[in-house]
Amino acid sequence: MNSQNILVWFRNDLRSHDCETLYRASQDAQMTSAQIFPVYCFDYAHFDKTSFGFEKTGAFRAKFLIESVANLRENLRSLNSNLIVRIGNPDQILPELAQQLGINSIYYHAEVTTEEKTLERKLRSTLKKQNVNFKSFWGSTLLHPNDLPFEIANLPDLFTNFRKQVEAKLTIREAFPMPKNLPTLPESVDIGEIPTLENLGLKETLPCDRAVLQFKGGETEAVKRLEHYFWNSDRIQVYKQTRNGMLHADDSSKFSPWLALGCLSPRYIYEQVKKYESDRLANDSTYWLIFELLWRDYFRFVAVKHGNKLFHRSGLRDMDLPWKQDWKRFELWQTGNTGFPLVDANMRELAATGFMSNRGRQNVASFLTKNLGIDWRMGAEWFESRLIDYDPCSNWGNWNYTAGIGNDARGFRFFNINRQAQDYDPLGEYVKHWLPELADLPTSKVHQPWKLLPIEQKRFNVLLGVDYPHPVVDLFASAKVNEEIYKNAF
Ligand SMILES: Cc1cc2nc3c(=O)[nH]c(=O)nc-3n(C[C@H](O)[C@H](O)[C@H](O)COP(=O)(O)OP(=O)(O)OC[C@H]3O[C@@H](n4cnc5c(N)ncnc54)[C@H](O)[C@@H]3O)c2cc1C
Repeated sequence: MNSQNILVWFRNDLRSHDCETLYRASQDAQMTSAQIFPVYCFDYAHFDKTSFGFEKTGAFRAKFLIESVANLRENLRSLNSNLIVRIGNPDQILPELAQQLGINSIYYHAEVTTEEKTLERKLRSTLKKQNVNFKSFWGSTLLHPNDLPFEIANLPDLFTNFRKQVEAKLTIREAFPMPKNLPTLPESVDIGEIPTLENLGLKETLPCDRAVLQFKGGETEAVKRLEHYFWNSDRIQVYKQTRNGMLHADDSSKFSPWLALGCLSPRYIYEQVKKYESDRLANDSTYWLIFELLWRDYFRFVAVKHGNKLFHRSGLRDMDLPWKQDWKRFELWQTGNTGFPLVDANMRELAATGFMSNRGRQNVASFLTKNLGIDWRMGAEWFESRLIDYDPCSNWGNWNYTAGIGNDARGFRFFNINRQAQDYDPLGEYVKHWLPELADLPTSKVHQPWKLLPIEQKRFNVLLGVDYPHPVVDLFASAKVNEEIYKNAF
């Protein structure tokens, strides 16, 4: 074996474009004519249970992950290399592989949240004993932390202040070029099989024909989606006006699942936006997509600054609120049976597809915490289990924010579901799409079926309490109670 062998450990960076670990490995390997071993390990810990007993990675996300890993293998094959796949505990598997393959260095992209950092620490200490260099790179955000105009310890508590400061002197590094060619793996290497859902202890998922988009994992699909959204349909031109839509694939970019697994690089998106702006059009919508990517960056930096607090019941603000763990009501929320069509349609979409729009997420999270007063961590864990775009920083950061315990909480703010329904689903098309039992209701009644008279219920084929539930709470009275609780916590 060559003396400078490099193992590239893929994690949430399942791509070959703008991939610093792969790029540096190929540069370093060229200089020393070394071998490169790309590796992905399906981590047992990711297929465990959450603290409230949900599958940590549900079948939709696991399927998306399997597809993404398979696609990375194909793309590495087209560069003459391959992807070694293992299932198990990375803190055992990587040191074993390092030993077997005569590895001198492992290159990987650093993560920021507790479980991931703990794993990195364990590996570092084992590999040190084996004399293996464990080298980390930063690759998940648009902005590199070293280019921020402040230390992360001084990250502003308000997103607006963060955005203004970074926009004042926006530095975005160029994407790393894709290696043209990689060394071929020695034939003796067992590349391993990509597991099935069953191998991971999960049941097969059925494609849902109501889904907003048939998401498929992998860098190739991610780049195709961008091609479609930017260059083929020009929908990026109206992003700012349509992004709150819940029903149509092109209402928003739908980049999040690919971003979460790193199949798509935010810097690549940025470069494509800039190209679009110079070749076709620059407007408030093209700007707004970058603005939203800054939210994503912000939550990642919040996680770096606040560490484990992101997951604490008292949140980033250390607020001790008497959250309820009312499983009966939680299950009504989880299964889309609260009696509020906007909430129920969104929760049923999540259960059937693993996706929900941003508008939907804000409403259901507000309803769970501000109307039902239920422990926000139960909601966050349910999202963790189901969302195909689950990202610890974005998920737990947004939940902190919506539950009112984030570092930037500004008093008790709740979403008026009735008003939101009118504003974002004025014709009731979205709720009818996911709640076929409401299909015959006129637009004027579809968001507030509890107002139907018995004769109307008969006429519109929806018997309250039988075909569709009565509302679980009074919207305003329940918010008032929780507001009092919130105020008393100060
Ligand atoms: C309670 C709650 C939980 C959430 N959990 C996640 C999560 O686990 N993973 C995740 O990627 N997003 C999460 N979000 C943020 C947001 O809902 C999704 O990123 C967005 O709906 C994805 O759809 P899109 O790609 O079409 O977004 P677009 O509107 O097209 O936005 C483009 C990109 O900007 C980023 N972005 C947009 N809004 C936000 C935001 N509020 N916070 C962080 N990044 C954002 C995403 O990467 C997104 O892909 C959550 C929001 C809420 C309110």
